[in-house]
Amino acid sequence: MAVPRAQINEVDQTYRAAYMDLATRAMRDALAAWTAVTLAELYRTPAAAWWQLVSTMTSHRFAFRNLAIARYRLLRALELGRTVALPSEKATSVKLADLWRQFYRSADQPGRPIPRGGRKTIPIDKTVWDRWRPDKMERTLAASYFSRGPARLKRKVERWEKQGKARIVDGELQVSKEAGPEANRVKNAIIRSSAANAARIAQDGARDATAEAIERDKKVKRWFRITDGDPCYWCAMLASQGAYYKSKRTAHRREDGHAYHDNCNCDVRPSWIDDGHPLANIPAAERRWVDLWQRFDKERKDTPSLTWRKWFNNQLRKAR
Ligand SMILES: [Zn+2]
Repeated sequence: MAVPRAQINEVDQTYRAAYMDLATRAMRDALAAWTAVTLAELYRTPAAAWWQLVSTMTSHRFAFRNLAIARYRLLRALELGRTVALPSEKATSVKLADLWRQFYRSADQPGRPIPRGGRKTIPIDKTVWDRWRPDKMERTLAASYFSRGPARLKRKVERWEKQGKARIVDGELQVSKEAGPEANRVKNAIIRSSAANAARIAQDGARDATAEAIERDKKVKRWFRITDGDPCYWCAMLASQGAYYKSKRTAHRREDGHAYHDNCNCDVRPSWIDDGHPLANIPAAERRWVDLWQRFDKERKDTPSLTWRKWFNNQLRKAR
């Protein structure tokens, strides 16, 4: 079967744009949940803000997950000629046009014209996803929120109490006037960091769905790290290595363990074709990191003390 490269590029680009759009919205909503909250309210974890955060992040996580699943099913059909079932789907085949339609809908682009070949019938293999569990979201969010938010604030407040800058009256935090600016900075830092964390957990809806599928799908050959176009040195290095292969022994993730930090919009792109070389047919947008790494590799032979982090950040600064 000839692989329709142009159509695959169209999926990659549409996915990336939709993903970034969702990421921006998730971050905006995560910040919005806390904007009207005072430091004293933050100290006792305001229930209304907390529920607003949980409900918006749960729906973003669901949208991310749907986007990743629709992309996975369409890409697999385009590369392999077969797809996988949705969780609890019973059908044994689907028209390619329907996979396009589902994908465009999940990318918030309904009504986009369907590319050629839509009448083709695609056989469906068994699903690679568990059912959606919205309750998991609240627990995951709570676990990291309390360590980043209230726990961090409690430590600060203890110090302020010793310095006479703050006191607790009937469970209410009161900060002295002179400590006001510092308290404000602390509040903003806590809000920013827990919003970034919440937005990451929403994004994990896509990343977890893809990781789960890659592990369970026996037909996946390899995957690529894809970046948001402005990655940190660490993510650029992971993307610069090209394809990662499923190990035959464990069929598990390897070097690119799919770890993501807060404020990172990286993701993974599976492939069902083994092009024989890690750098063959890497997604066009990641070519830049491969080229940079190869230049770095050459230069560090002359300068053994050269580090990727320093060199990479320098290159980016020069390019700006
Ligand atoms: Zn990243």
